[in-house]
Amino acid sequence: MNIDSIKNGIVIDHISAGNGMRLYDLLGLDKLDCSVAIIKNVHSNVMGKKDIIKIDADIPVNLDVIGYVDPGVTVNTIRNGELVEKRTIDMPEMLTNVIFCKNPRCITSCEQEIKHIFKLTDREKKIYRCYYCETKA
Ligand code: ZN
Repeated sequence: MNIDSIKNGIVIDHISAGNGMRLYDLLGLDKLDCSVAIIKNVHSNVMGKKDIIKIDADIPVNLDVIGYVDPGVTVNTIRNGELVEKRTIDMPEMLTNVIFCKNPRCITSCEQEIKHIFKLTDREKKIYRCYYCETKA
């Protein structure tokens, strides 16, 4: 893959330097068949250094995961070599099945069928709490 020119795909830009791998893992990009490139420590006038992920396929990415790991990230969708959509991702109010409650007595630890839901309780401090037992993420 020529990492500079994606015909159809997704470019996740303005990732804080060092968060690229974490996003790669949490988004499950290792499970994709298409080319995926992580470019680390790219020079940025605004951020100093940043990471970029390029996915050579127009696949749905979990924006909640992106907003949770690194709010402010830009997700660019490219079709036929043209930028068709550019979105800045903010922290989601709710996270479903992204992170898991560590409280052994939480209902999500006992009941396997239950969704792991976390609610944003403090936007400034970026604190998420379990929807069921309010344990901090
Ligand atoms: Zn819980």
